[in-house]
Amino acid sequence: QHRNHSEPVFLQAVQEVLETLSPVIEEHPEIEEQNLLERLCEPERQIIFRVPWRDDKGNIQVNRGFRTQFNSVLGPYKGGLRFHPTVNMGVIKFLAFEQIFKNSLTGLNIGGGKGGADFDPKGKSDEEVMRFCQAFMNELFRHVSYKRDVPAGDIGVGAREIGYLFGQYKKLTNSFELGVITGKGASWGGSLGRTEATGYGTVYFAEEMMKVKSDSLQGKTCVISGSGNVALYALQKLQELGANVVACSDSSGVIYDPKGLDFDALRMIKEVERERIGKYTDVHGSATFRPDAKVWDIECDAAFPCATQNELDAGDARKLVKNGCRLVCEGANMPCTPEAIEIFRGSEVNFAPGKAANAGGVAVSGLEMQQNAGLEHWSFEQVDKELHKIMRGIHESCLRYAEQYHRRGDYVSGANIGGFLRVAEAMICQGLI
Ligand code: NDP
Repeated sequence: QHRNHSEPVFLQAVQEVLETLSPVIEEHPEIEEQNLLERLCEPERQIIFRVPWRDDKGNIQVNRGFRTQFNSVLGPYKGGLRFHPTVNMGVIKFLAFEQIFKNSLTGLNIGGGKGGADFDPKGKSDEEVMRFCQAFMNELFRHVSYKRDVPAGDIGVGAREIGYLFGQYKKLTNSFELGVITGKGASWGGSLGRTEATGYGTVYFAEEMMKVKSDSLQGKTCVISGSGNVALYALQKLQELGANVVACSDSSGVIYDPKGLDFDALRMIKEVERERIGKYTDVHGSATFRPDAKVWDIECDAAFPCATQNELDAGDARKLVKNGCRLVCEGANMPCTPEAIEIFRGSEVNFAPGKAANAGGVAVSGLEMQQNAGLEHWSFEQVDKELHKIMRGIHESCLRYAEQYHRRGDYVSGANIGGFLRVAEAMICQGLI
């Protein structure tokens, strides 16, 4: 703890995992003998770098770039890049730590990493975003490759940014190395279905949770926070499965329509026009925009936090429980505070942590790497089918590990234990490195 006192979100993520591992530690003395927990909590490598770039007015701007290469016992480091003004070393470290377990749960051979910069893409021109991405890659290219570290997107990094990042990597290395980054455009080496993967995967996970309760998402009233990549495609899949999504948000506020939201209109506003969510009410007069509100105030059967860390606190959790919400499935990384999770676990709410429920994105990134390595291009249906299978597998693993270690039905314990055991075994096999 003394080493990381200035990184509260990292400590939060570590504490949440370690708290659930006690039954495993009791049964496996080699974990303590090998000092595995301390080794696991220390990143293999962290890189901090200067990113100088020129804005449209000709001024030179400086941002800070990060890459945490946390654990590579299962494969090359893998995890997204986040461009957001709140990014700092602690945020990247917490995300990379979570990524180790998530990647392990997918069953694929990928290690854990994460990166980003405190750059704010909001309000920047396309040219400025391009120049920033190029400047960022001017340093990052030394540390990544298809067999070393494979970045992808996250908050503020979508298909546009991945394109610029890949273009600069290609220029600097004079090589067309498709497998160095995932989330590429489908016409130049990307996988169909990657854009949809995290949102769809979260909903596939929720569908499995409902099945366990002999229920389904059909006819359920749902709320989603955020309106970015994860939120949008969670909304689309929920509607396909017959749910009614009545609210979503961005950092400016919430839109609410009891009749249900229009996916195409939202996608146009957020993905194409890159506008604020309030614009939705221009298209749909029946919807209301509530500035600075939270979607958790709205009555629902199921809630999907898909924006950012610690966006749902104890007060929000109490409101959701009181209003009859019965399922909370995390599409974002660590969106619920520890106090909120405690409230859910002590209530009727069926709660799934992000590291299991949002693993669909990295899983399809893994499939993208597989297609790149085999010079293949799978159909959307094939990728989606594989994603569905992986999410069912992760759901099943969570329940199995929870059961085996006396935490029946507890997805938090199941996900942490399942993710941990695979990494721990590999760390022991690979020796003291
Ligand atoms: P996007 O940038 O596409 O969307 C983020 C959304 O969350 C936007 O609506 C944004 O609103 C909102 N948001 C972000 N930060 C804040 C904040 N501080 N306060 C309020 N709202 C905020 O990101 P993604 O959809 O890709 O990522 C969302 C979450 O899902 C993150 O936690 C990410 O780590 C996680 N995740 C993403 C994966 C992926 O494949 N993309 C994979 C697994 C997890 P605004 O536009 O106003 O900022």
